[in-house]
Amino acid sequence: TAELIDGKAVAARVRQEVADGVAELVAQDGQAPGLATVLVGEDPASEVYVRNKRRACVAAGMVDLHRRLPGDASQQQIDEEIGRLAEDPGVSGILLQLPLPGHLDPDALIDRIPAGKDVDGLTAGNAGLLAQGRDGLRPCTPSGVARLLDEYAVPLAGAKVVVVGRSVLVGRPMAQLLLARDATVTLCHSRTKDLAAEAREAEVLVVAAGVPGLIGRESVRPGATVIDVGIHRTENGLRGDVRFAETRGVAGLLTPVPGGVGPMTIAMLLANTLQAARWQQNRTNELRSSQCSG
Ligand code: NAD
Repeated sequence: TAELIDGKAVAARVRQEVADGVAELVAQDGQAPGLATVLVGEDPASEVYVRNKRRACVAAGMVDLHRRLPGDASQQQIDEEIGRLAEDPGVSGILLQLPLPGHLDPDALIDRIPAGKDVDGLTAGNAGLLAQGRDGLRPCTPSGVARLLDEYAVPLAGAKVVVVGRSVLVGRPMAQLLLARDATVTLCHSRTKDLAAEAREAEVLVVAAGVPGLIGRESVRPGATVIDVGIHRTENGLRGDVRFAETRGVAGLLTPVPGGVGPMTIAMLLANTLQAARWQQNRTNELRSSQCSG
């Protein structure tokens, strides 16, 4: 039976690293990183996500800069709010909680976030940097998966990796991140002809389809590493895209749901916010020293 990946433990480690990094920044220039979460409307799931992000941010020693707008806020109102946060030197990271109410254009609002403050890694700018293999802020869930694979020393260079799902949020950036690590990546989606046959080739299988129980033993190569990104609320608690019990009998390494990928997402959001704050600090220092010498 497969060894289980302990996402809770790895996430706790990442959060501690971030808290240490924040303390170091504060010691250097007296200012803690600030995370601005922007919530539009009152979607109950989004309320919970944003509350958890704000708590985690405070627990890491960062400044919680929450902004709430009414569900009938106009595109222009939100645009202006993001514009103010973009200019504010106390704001290290901006997170626009999705989904937005239907009358709004999310892509246009996301792209108002400066790439250096885009801690969800979802702007076209950061997606482009990732596609080109350049430094930037990466989407939190895929970078959390990459961190789990590293923590468990799963070899990626040259390995056959199959990603199921091509969303902008998870599947696509996941494939790009693994490609940047020299994996041989196959990206499957809802139009893939024989998903099980593709998935069975994988030494590392990452499943982010949003379909409960899509993947089982028929789709898993013996000994493979299987990462389940899916989250579904059922009457028996949270379940993933992978049929856990039967897959555990075939895989070598497997994430449980809950307690696998889930806890990593917020941990990587904190890591991105610290990264953004460090870059901003470096820029400020460069500016100061150039002014001094000039
Ligand atoms: P999405 O609906 O935007 O994308 C799903 C993707 O899966 C699509 O590209 C689609 O082509 C593909 N797909 C759908 N059905 C398929 C099938 N039968 N065979 C092959 N491919 C199929 O979803 P998303 O935002 O990428 O999220 C995926 C899942 O991950 C959801 O369950 C979501 O709740 C979960 N999620 C978890 C976290 C976390 O923190 N753990 C974060 C984000 C999303």
